Amino acid sequence: MDTTDRPALDAALISAHCPSPFTTINVVESTGSTNDDLKKNAAKLKHGSVLISNTQTAGKGRNGRKFVSQPGVGIYCSILLKPKFDPTHFLRLSILSGIILCETIREYTGLIPTLKWPNDVLLKGKKVAGILCESTYQANQPSPFIIGWGLNVYTQEFPEELQDIATTLEDNSSWPLDRNLLVQDFLVRLAAYLPRLEDLPLGKMSSTYALKRGTPITVHDPKGAFNATLEGINDLGQLVITKDDQEVTLVSYEISIREDESE
Ligand code: ATP
Repeated sequence: MDTTDRPALDAALISAHCPSPFTTINVVESTGSTNDDLKKNAAKLKHGSVLISNTQTAGKGRNGRKFVSQPGVGIYCSILLKPKFDPTHFLRLSILSGIILCETIREYTGLIPTLKWPNDVLLKGKKVAGILCESTYQANQPSPFIIGWGLNVYTQEFPEELQDIATTLEDNSSWPLDRNLLVQDFLVRLAAYLPRLEDLPLGKMSSTYALKRGTPITVHDPKGAFNATLEGINDLGQLVITKDDQEVTLVSYEISIREDESE
């Protein structure tokens, strides 16, 4: 594998064209989890601080699951926000992060990824990126919000359990890929959208990337899984589904696509 055209992550290059509030950008070689680092230091860090690592030894998904973060082949990025809007908008911010990641991938590969609500980005049915948003919300106190994302950029040897379900940008596109430009693009888009968060038409913005209306899904509710049909994502970032002919909105839970019934 020729790795000579894989530029190293470079904080100065990323910062060069990053707008406010993303002016404090740190790149490290390795850490446990970039989300955990920002969470631990949230009180002393500025709104808009960004931490990117070349690898993570304890990369996280939801519910304590692991996000494999191998060295030199991906982007493991966390962004600390200390937003002025109230926490009811946190779901919007989380879904907006997924939409932005899809827009960035499209810009730099020409491919249209799929956003699998709430936090997976897929290329040709395989996961290319995961998003983990975390907040240390406490009533009546400013609530730091962390957007964490991991993106598989370059071809890599995945552990056996991921070989059939994970993919990379490089595996799907022959366009030259530079992790610095991908991070920069994400931050430029986030800076542009953030001031308008409360009015963003997330339903329309996500429609290019969301799973198709009518997709049969299974919702993994802790009280028991049930089958439903997907309608789309609304402007609040909720998933709209039809269950027993009734329209229902979801704010969390996992969904899986019912392969047997999809085309
Ligand atoms: P799932 O991806 O199983 O639908 P999820 O969306 O909740 O669940 P997370 O918990 O956010 O996913 O991410 C962890 C899961 O992502 C792991 O259980 C594994 O299946 C998958 N995974 C871990 N590392 C990678 C990676 N580098 N690329 C793609 N998928 C990964």
